[in-house]
Amino acid sequence: MSTIHDLDPQNVWKNFYSLTRIPRPSGHVEKITEFLINFGKNLGLESFVDEAGNVVIRKPATPGMENKRGIILQGHMDMVPQKDNDKVHDFEKDPIETLVEGDWLTADGTTLGADDGLGVAAAMSVFESKEIKHGPLEMLVTRDEETGMYGAFGLKPGTLKGQILLNLDSESEGMLYIGCAGGVDIVASLQYKEVPVRKGDIAFKVTLSGLRGGHSGMDICLGRANANKLMARFLHEAVAQHDVRLVSWEGGNMRNAIPREAHAVITIPASKEQDITALVKNFEDLFNKEYAGIETPMKFLIESVETPESEVPDEIQDNFIDAVDACQNGVVRYIPAIPDTVETSSNLAIVKIKGGKAEVIILARGSLDSMKDALATSLGSCFSMAGMKVVREGSYSGWQPDLNSSILNEMKQLYKQLFSTEASVKVIHAGLECGVIGAITPGLDMISFGPTLRSPHSPNEGAYIPSVKKFYDFLVAAVENVPEL
Ligand SMILES: [Zn+2]
Repeated sequence: MSTIHDLDPQNVWKNFYSLTRIPRPSGHVEKITEFLINFGKNLGLESFVDEAGNVVIRKPATPGMENKRGIILQGHMDMVPQKDNDKVHDFEKDPIETLVEGDWLTADGTTLGADDGLGVAAAMSVFESKEIKHGPLEMLVTRDEETGMYGAFGLKPGTLKGQILLNLDSESEGMLYIGCAGGVDIVASLQYKEVPVRKGDIAFKVTLSGLRGGHSGMDICLGRANANKLMARFLHEAVAQHDVRLVSWEGGNMRNAIPREAHAVITIPASKEQDITALVKNFEDLFNKEYAGIETPMKFLIESVETPESEVPDEIQDNFIDAVDACQNGVVRYIPAIPDTVETSSNLAIVKIKGGKAEVIILARGSLDSMKDALATSLGSCFSMAGMKVVREGSYSGWQPDLNSSILNEMKQLYKQLFSTEASVKVIHAGLECGVIGAITPGLDMISFGPTLRSPHSPNEGAYIPSVKKFYDFLVAAVENVPEL
């Protein structure tokens, strides 16, 4: 049976094997930092840890290549620590054990760390090589990408000297990523004084569930249902037609997901019990009809609950429901020059009104910062009209694609020469370190690519072995054929 030591290209797999021996879960990167610094120093290269904890290694151009543009090979040093429930493994102490299963390399019941160990291993192989001809090279290995891109955010302007950045942290061989989305959280809040429930009213809880949800960037183009949006439609109608009052409403629980569930407690005159039960059933049928083919059947249920003493005052309730109903949701715009590629989106992630406090959290994403900011303003306006306080938190930049990039054109040609097929060029609607690093270092020409990985961040993580040679050969070709200054 073959092992990691038998795989091709040997230099890349040898370096990856070394990385599997070093515990490096996010937040515990001391050992891997030391390893990388020693790697650079043993090659006699300038090697240092910057203020943010990133490792930078520099390798001068080979003779005759000094007038080439400087290339930065970039990856991240940490890995996501996930294991099967029955697996005994201490990510801070134990090495990752690998298995070859057909064309896949996996770990034994844990994440493999091919994200981004293979990117770092490939960069190490380029730096070790005595054969590859190259212009000035830098290696940037960032700290704690997986938990919040802390190393990338902490990078100081001027740390990097190169003009081209090759990010080696993508997961589909044959794809060149040329843009990503930035993001900003919009947080709207309000405090109110509850009022007594009307005499004779009875209370119900309505629960919407079974939606598919998903990643608010990668899955937003699929047009899935948003539990908060559907609940707003129901409540709007229930208030208008059946004199319903709102006691509480909670939907969604992750700022970067499409909300899958929402529930609300409402009160209603006792005489209207049948009307509200029928309305819930009608909306369940309507929602399932509207989302047939996108959602598997969604459930909208009503149950009677004990009547509470107090509820939301009706003017607050009406404004709040109106604002959620009016709030833009889903894909807002596609990139004009790149078909079927999302530029801006929002996800109406979390809605909560209960016990005198209301809060709404939305993650607005956009590859073009000005459009992302315009969307954030528009979303905020919706809730400030409802009398809520609106703030923005955690803004980070997108990476605006440049279809005229010289490294993109060079790499497209090289890919075709090497593999007799076209590479696909994509923009990802999620955050990448390129967005953050590009904002700190304006003018960088960037591409993100990598070998094919499956199920990263899970114990099922695997690296597709044949893709690693293609990825490395392509990387070497890019380094050797870098455009001149
Ligand atoms: Zn990664």
